[in-house]
Parts: sequence; structure tokens; C-alpha cells
Amino acid sequence: MSVPQKTVIVGAGPVGSLAALYAAQRGHEVELYELRPDLRNPGTIPLNFTKSINLAISERGINAMRHAGHPSLLKTVMAGTIPMQGRMIHGRSPLGELYDHAQNYDAKGRAIYAIDRSGMNERLLNVLDSMPNVKLFFNHKLTGADFRTQHAWFEAPDTVSSSSGRPTEIEITFDLMIGADGAHSAVRYHMMKFTRMDYQQEYIDTLWCEFHIEPRVAAGNSDPWSKFRISPNHLHIWPGKDFMFIAIPSEDGSFTCTLFLPSKEFSDLENDPTKLPSFFDQNFPGVTDLISREGLIESFKQNPHLPLISLKCRPYHYGSSGVIVGDAAHAMVPFYGQGMNAGMEDVRILFSILDKHVEVQEDNSPIDGYDKITSSAPRRAQALTEYSTVRAPDAHAINELALQNYVEMRASVLSKRYRLRKFLEEYMSVRFPNFGWHTKYSRVSFSNEGYSDIMRKSEDQGKILLRTFLACATSPIVVSLFVFGYRHRRSVLSAAARLCGFR
Ligand code: FAD
Repeated sequence: MSVPQKTVIVGAGPVGSLAALYAAQRGHEVELYELRPDLRNPGTIPLNFTKSINLAISERGINAMRHAGHPSLLKTVMAGTIPMQGRMIHGRSPLGELYDHAQNYDAKGRAIYAIDRSGMNERLLNVLDSMPNVKLFFNHKLTGADFRTQHAWFEAPDTVSSSSGRPTEIEITFDLMIGADGAHSAVRYHMMKFTRMDYQQEYIDTLWCEFHIEPRVAAGNSDPWSKFRISPNHLHIWPGKDFMFIAIPSEDGSFTCTLFLPSKEFSDLENDPTKLPSFFDQNFPGVTDLISREGLIESFKQNPHLPLISLKCRPYHYGSSGVIVGDAAHAMVPFYGQGMNAGMEDVRILFSILDKHVEVQEDNSPIDGYDKITSSAPRRAQALTEYSTVRAPDAHAINELALQNYVEMRASVLSKRYRLRKFLEEYMSVRFPNFGWHTKYSRVSFSNEGYSDIMRKSEDQGKILLRTFLACATSPIVVSLFVFGYRHRRSVLSAAARLCGFR
């Protein structure tokens, strides 16, 4: 008799929900367990109560949904998004004037999209609810897992033990457990007891706190964009040397803002939050025109001040019975806007490797894969081994790139060297497409290339640019022209001015 594979997913965040959909589309019997209440019930604590409300979704997340096998998922999810074509850098000139300066993300005009995290999660859960082979269990906390005997235990607070008064524990079995339970993953913790997993974590010395720019109330104005106080099609950045403030648009005209600041500055402001408005005026010019001084202090006092963790581990699996994806496998700092995108990409890659190993006949009925659990286990083990081998270098690379991008966002965006390199790489990508040159940002955000390949290619491009620059700078003709130009600078400058029509 045909027995479908039982796939248990732990964590109903964006990555776990997508993994449940991929498994359900392949005919598995799917059970999805989530620690928190169902975020779709009004009045429950939102699933994302410690996470940014708005995220940037880009090609990798979109592509993973494109391959989910559901006809309308992508359309439904993308319906509530806002394209962001680039960064808008805000600052103050040396003369004290406020300025903003737009930097497009891509020479070809491609955009990343601001998405409401809960809305996206809700849509994914609605799709799962409509599938007969998926069961959702909210308020269930994984407390133990034995990957050898394929048993797991969950605390279920809805069923309180009459003797102890404590939530009872339920025991379940599984063929495959997918751990998508976030940075502090319980699945990873239990899997470590069965496999020799290398693990490394780092808290960077930066905390974050959320703020809010309210929409503009424009009575009688029919222009849909008038509700936005600043451009809705940009990710706004107020860079500082060691910190920054960013704002991402929402559909209702508001902006979700995040302050990233070293812990020392955070504690100074915590000691006296009334200093906050002047701190903003000094470092993030113009923000107090968008958020009232009281609003700034209120958000700073009410919203949590949260740490940023970056973690790497490998392998991601045990035998044929367990695998971790998303933040559980590679939580990263948020400066490349890739955490969720990379997690969703994990799901696409994991299932494409499983599909390759568990052959499916032309009529789509499994040969001896998904339906005969005992015979499919060795193939699944091979697939999971391949997954860990293929994915770890890419996940480690994006962790590094995300750390590097913090420097780029808060400081390099203002440097001439950074802008020159961006200009040259974009010029090459548009004018000489056959050379295959692209900026690192566009490869990360607008392609599905492996992150480790991107790192390598970007380093190669950097070396070529540096060599070309050194060759030009040291060539005798260039040096002679430079010396000549310097000696005769007065006449050269006035000739140039005449040529440009300034005289
Ligand atoms: P999570 O979203 O953490 O979900 C894990 C789920 O597992 C939760 O629902 C949790 O309740 C549940 N769970 C935990 N433990 C248990 C248990 N024992 N039993 C059962 N369930 C459990 N990424 C982007 O791609 N773009 C961005 O612009 C972006 N911006 C960000 C900004 C900030 C400030 C931060 C902090 C992160 C940002 N990220 C961004 C990263 C993104 O939020 C995460 O990468 C993403 O949420 C990971 O999804 P996940 O499903 O793997 O884990």
C-alpha cells in the first residue's frame, strides 16, 4: 500500500511555511508546528513581535515562490509590495544644508520590493490551510527530537496536565524533520547531539530599535503617492560613521524605520532618552521633521533594543531524517536584506536536490521514492548530504557579505572610491554585456548565482580595476601628461574652462 512521506516542519515563519508548501506539493503528509499562536487570529501576539515589520524581498525570495508550484502564490504575495529602485541617502552639506541623493541599485532599472512580513506569512498560511495534506499546529513548542528513532516531542499549552498543571507533551513520529525555527533553533540544538556539527556564532556590537514615520493625511488628494512623506520607491538611509538610520515604505504611506547603533551609544541614550531628538538632529538630519520629538522618545522607550547575531554551521542535516534551513542554519546580520531571501532559496535548492535523488516517473507517480519510505531513506540521505555540501559555502559567503555591507551602507555609500567603482562596473555591464561584469549588489539581489561565486567574481573584478588603475597611473604617457598638466596648470585650467564654455 502507498504510504506518503511524513514531513514535519518546525517553525511557521516565512521559510518554514514555504518549506511546508514545497513538501505538500510533492504529496507528503505535512505537519507544521509553530511555537506562537496563529498570527491570523485578531488579538494574538504577532508572529513577528521581535522582528522588523517590513522587509526587502528580492529575486531569490521571489524565485523560490515562483518554483513553489502554486499558481497564484507569487501574484498574491507580490500584490502588497512596493518597488524600491535604489537608496536615498540623506545628509547635511558642509554649508549646513539638508540634501538627499538617490543611488539606483541597478543600471538596468531592476528593483527590490518592500513587503509586509506578517501579510506575506498570512498569505502563505492561507494557502497551506487550503491543502488537504497539511495540518497546522500553533502553540506547539519543540522540546525534544530523536533523529535516530525519528520521534519528536512538543509542549502543547492547550492541553494542560491535570496532575502537574503544566502543559502536556505530545509525541510524534516523522520521516523527515525540517527545522525552520529561527536563529535560536531547537531543531539545530537537538540535531547537534546526533551529528558532528561545526557551529560558530557572533553578536556584533550593534543593537537595533524600530521607529515609525506616519503617513501624511492629505484630505481630498486623489494622488496615491501623496500619503508618503518621502519617496516610496527608495530605501532611505541616513548614514553615520558607526551607525545608521533606515526607512522602508509600507502600503499605507507609513515607513518602518530602524536605528542601528553600537551598544555603548544605546546605553547612553537609555540613561537619558530626552537626548534622543538632539542626537538625531546631529546625526540624522531631517528625521525630526518626519517623526515628532515625542514620537522618537516614545518608540525608543517602548520598542525593544535587540541584538544582531551572525551564525554559521555545517552540516545542515542528519542522515535521512533531519535538515535545518533559513535562520536556523545561517542567521545573518540584516545589512544585505538577504536573510529571508536566502532562507527561501534554501527551500528551493533543498527540494530540487531531493527531486533529483528521488526519481519521479513521467506520470508524476513516484517509482519507489516518496511512497516506500524504507527504500527512499537512503536516497534522501544522499540528497541531504549533497544539500549540506552545496549550500554551506554559499550560506557562509552571504553571512560575510552581510557583515561587509554594514560598512558599505553606513560609510562607503558616501565615498568617491565606492561611487567610482559602482560607476565603472555598471558602465561595463551596460556597454559591454559580453564581459559579464556586474556590481556585487546586483548579483546578490537580482540573480540566483551562488553567493560564493559572487564573492569570487567581485574580488576578481576589483583586482582587474586596481591593476588597470595602477597601469594607467604608472604609464610614462600618463605620468608625463600629469607632470605637464601640473607645471602648466594655470593655462591648462583656463583652456579647459574655455572648452567647457565657462568663459
Ligand atoms: P523566523 O522568521 O525567525 O521564524 C522562525 C519561527 O519558528 C518563528 O515563528 C518561531 O516562533 C518558531 N519557533 C522558534 N522556536 C520554536 C520551537 N521550539 N518550536 C516551534 N516553533 C518554534 N531578511 C530579508 O530577506 N530582507 C530584509 O530586508 C530583512 N530585514 C531584516 C531586518 C532586521 C532588523 C532583522 C532583524 C532581520 C531582517 N531580515 C531580512 C532577516 C529575516 O527577518 C530573517 O532572515 C527571516 O525572518 C528568517 O525566517 P525564518 O523563517 O528562517 O525564521
